Amino acid sequence: MSMIMKGAEVAKAMKEVLIRETEELKQAGVEPCLTIIRVGARPDDLAYERGAKKRMELVGIRCEVLELPEDISQEEFEQQFRQVNEDPEVHGILLFRPLPSHLNEEPVCQMIHPKKDVDCMSPVNIAKVFSGDETGYAPCTPEAVMKMLEHYQIDISGKKVTVVGRSMVVGKPLAMMLLKKHGTVTICHTRTKDLAATCREAEILVAAAGKAKMISADMVGEGAVVADVGINVDEEGNMCGDVDYESVQETCGYISPVPGGVGSVTTSVLAAHVLRGARGGQTP
Ligand code: NAP
Repeated sequence: MSMIMKGAEVAKAMKEVLIRETEELKQAGVEPCLTIIRVGARPDDLAYERGAKKRMELVGIRCEVLELPEDISQEEFEQQFRQVNEDPEVHGILLFRPLPSHLNEEPVCQMIHPKKDVDCMSPVNIAKVFSGDETGYAPCTPEAVMKMLEHYQIDISGKKVTVVGRSMVVGKPLAMMLLKKHGTVTICHTRTKDLAATCREAEILVAAAGKAKMISADMVGEGAVVADVGINVDEEGNMCGDVDYESVQETCGYISPVPGGVGSVTTSVLAAHVLRGARGGQTP
């Protein structure tokens, strides 16, 4: 029987620190503020937006939403983005992606002030993650995985770590962050030969492929730590991860559930980034 890594416990531990840091900033005359920029109204974006607003409210961070019409022109989109980017009262910007297909995100990725780039879309912050420089912002989801491992005192150094998925949002940056902590990291993807064997060898296995329950019990080594980043819907219409939780939890050492795992930590990481933005990019 495994130990369950609960996102709510990690978020609770982070909450105390976030509230204290928000208070300190307010006493120094700074009101931390996040602006969410949403184009259109995709259900995924709306769900994340609700969670983010709630988390910011809980810790005392102001959260504004700039809602833009789905058919907005590139020129108008960039103009609106620039206004938020230049607003001295905004310390963090979260842009929901992917954008509608007629819009190009590249100009705003280049434009965003790296210190306001709380979910790592600027090439400056991406380069920092890849070079192991922790002065920038990592994307919130991979950092949430790291927070979870840290909270449950999972030692990464020297361990065999397998990450399934190589997207720029999750898999690749997470692999770099695990490497920074001295894991021996293998990245898997759709062309990986014998995925099962590579997963089975891992002492720490992170699933970020976006395929419902694809990691079965025979792919997980006994006692392994399993972090599930996937958010999928199963045949019954229920939310599930990339890991077949019921069978895998019998033999692994630690496991994060879906829902209630990594996803519950992401908005706390976002809040921590906004506070850092409000301190001009400094860590406390
Ligand atoms: P993505 O862009 O679709 O990337 C998926 C990656 O997984 C790709 O690298 C793909 O390989 C690999 N992959 C897919 N099927 C595979 C298979 N059968 N075997 C091996 N590798 C496979 O997805 P993403 O944006 O990284 O998101 C991954 C999952 O995390 C999704 O379920 C998403 O909803 C979830 N997510 C969760 C959070 C959170 O807060 N918890 C945040 C963001 C995303 P190729 O490169 O070869 O195609």
